[in-house]
Amino acid sequence: MDTRTPMIAGNWKMHKTPQEAGVAAQKVKDLVKGVEGVDVMIAPSFVGIPAVAAAVAGSGIIVAGQNMHWEPQGAYTGEVSAPMLADAGATCVIIGHSERRQYFGETDDTVNKKVRAALAQGLLPVMCVGESEEERDAGKTFEVLDRQVAGGLEGISMTPDKPLVVAYEPVWAIGTGKTATPDQAQEAHAHIREKLASVMGKSLANATRILYGGSVKPGNIAELMAKDDIDGALVGGASLQPESFARIIRFREQ
Ligand code: PEP
Repeated sequence: MDTRTPMIAGNWKMHKTPQEAGVAAQKVKDLVKGVEGVDVMIAPSFVGIPAVAAAVAGSGIIVAGQNMHWEPQGAYTGEVSAPMLADAGATCVIIGHSERRQYFGETDDTVNKKVRAALAQGLLPVMCVGESEEERDAGKTFEVLDRQVAGGLEGISMTPDKPLVVAYEPVWAIGTGKTATPDQAQEAHAHIREKLASVMGKSLANATRILYGGSVKPGNIAELMAKDDIDGALVGGASLQPESFARIIRFREQ
């Protein structure tokens, strides 16, 4: 864990106009000034990216897209490509969020194409994986995680200069107020790291950050971060208020 810089990432989903996003990003920047040893990421809507990038310029805060298409351009109405994200000011992109898988037909195959395209563009992909409640109840958590990790990374030769972040987000914990216990999360993270080792080798797997996502709040971040394989958090609801997001980012002070 010592060699992995923690990352606290805010997924603003379909919230905030560009103007609101710029104001909120500026507040986050002010509230976390001086915090060291944590990578902070904000993923606003596509149209909010330029405003957020302008607001956080010079702060080191990473700006991300919430999704992208795998082709650089083409007849794909309504889609946004990796070069477009980069040009708008993003250096990172969330791929395969469970809401994309659930509502928009994202599959391990499309995740794979997007991870490839993001890496080729020089964007840092945050690849999301996680089981549903039924899958957990049926004892299939590890099977699902293995399939999503292997499918998402199939045929991709990872290298240290183009890293990837994985977000473990149990679907039953997203936006529900139910958080995985730190032990449940640690167990899943350790499993994901083992699977990553089988795909990309032990050393790269050890260097890969695995974020936990699912109802993270200022009150539960410290106990999650205390676990060996939890390297940060992908935060939805609690990232929308700059004050609560900043308290999560300042997890060491709790
Ligand atoms: C998310 O959207 O990635 C998420 C984890 O949401 P929430 O924190 O609201 O559960």
